[in-house]
Amino acid sequence: MITNKPVCVTGASGFIAAHIVKELLARGYCVKGTVRKNPENYPFLLQLPGAAERLELVKADLLCVGTYDHAVSECDYVMHTASPYEINVKNPQTDLVDPAVNGTETVLESCLKSGNVKRVILTSSIAAITDEPDSMKVYTEKDWNTMSSLDRNPYHYSKTLAERAAWDFIMQKRPAFDLISINPLMVIGPSLGPSLNTSNRMIRDIMIGTYPGIMDINWGFVDVRDVAKAHILAMETAAASGRYLCSEESMHMKALVALLKSSGFEKYALPKLDLSGKAGTLLMKLLSFTQPRDTGMYIRTNIGRTMRCDNAKIKRELGISFIPVKESIIEAVKDMVKWGHLSPPKK
Ligand code: NAP
Repeated sequence: MITNKPVCVTGASGFIAAHIVKELLARGYCVKGTVRKNPENYPFLLQLPGAAERLELVKADLLCVGTYDHAVSECDYVMHTASPYEINVKNPQTDLVDPAVNGTETVLESCLKSGNVKRVILTSSIAAITDEPDSMKVYTEKDWNTMSSLDRNPYHYSKTLAERAAWDFIMQKRPAFDLISINPLMVIGPSLGPSLNTSNRMIRDIMIGTYPGIMDINWGFVDVRDVAKAHILAMETAAASGRYLCSEESMHMKALVALLKSSGFEKYALPKLDLSGKAGTLLMKLLSFTQPRDTGMYIRTNIGRTMRCDNAKIKRELGISFIPVKESIIEAVKDMVKWGHLSPPKK
């Protein structure tokens, strides 16, 4: 343990943050988690091993300046994970960009005011690296998404602006703390709480027949428990610095569907039609206009392209080894059945 003071985790109710809280408690840390509702609304956090003795939940909102002052006041380390993770929203500026960017600045201002904070670990995203993978490229921490906007992949835009705002804050205000960003790809795996996360939902959608066929699309996956560990290793590793792409490996939709079929989930409405050729890609681009606006945009900017990321830096500098993606996918599916997000497999 590198601190006896509480570690602050913003957005503690979230899919990733809940695992960070669990792992911090397991390692003996005290945790101050920020949430939007009263603490009794989060029994899945309050019942974690060690929570009764070492977890405090405090209320804070990204859109209220100063609400994080209390949460970070006694802390050496702050994990800023809170940010809206939704693909389709009514108003991208107020629903995504404002809470992501203003919220990040608000949290950093509170850290500056506290005078105690030594390091902030920001949960950024692959979304801040690219929104339209170039199949000829292997992405690294040097890459930045320069293409998203309020009209084009606005979630990606919110994450890019928020991470930029964080690095600009460090450059301009030169605080006593340093900043590290963890940039995960698609985070999947078991959930500690009852909500269905956007990334697990994508797997569920494939299983309930949302897509007419198998598309030429691939995703870089990473297990939620590894993302939590990466945050804690970034806190504990004094020499850690900069950005860390956080992903196990990519999987094509064809391989994902084959994995689900061969793992006892063949009776779900898995897509059968192979639309992964050139004609299928063209058809899917046309059909994408029938999807909700931003899902359609995501399909059009990712289909027919291969996403490849270099995870050497996080392995080398934080010493992380990843849970195999196939295991995470199967566990995610079983967990969605457990929470009732998917019906149990038919015999
Ligand atoms: P999540 O389960 O939806 O968690 C989002 C968290 O942010 C929740 O705790 C939510 O609180 C909080 N939040 C949203 N708006 C807020 C506001 N105005 N004020 C205070 N809190 C607010 O999503 P997640 O997957 O764990 O995402 C956590 C972080 O990881 C986000 O920054 C996301 O961009 C990033 N990320 C996620 C993935 C992924 O695949 N899941 C990949 C890369 C990066 P409520 O519970 O009250 O709504």
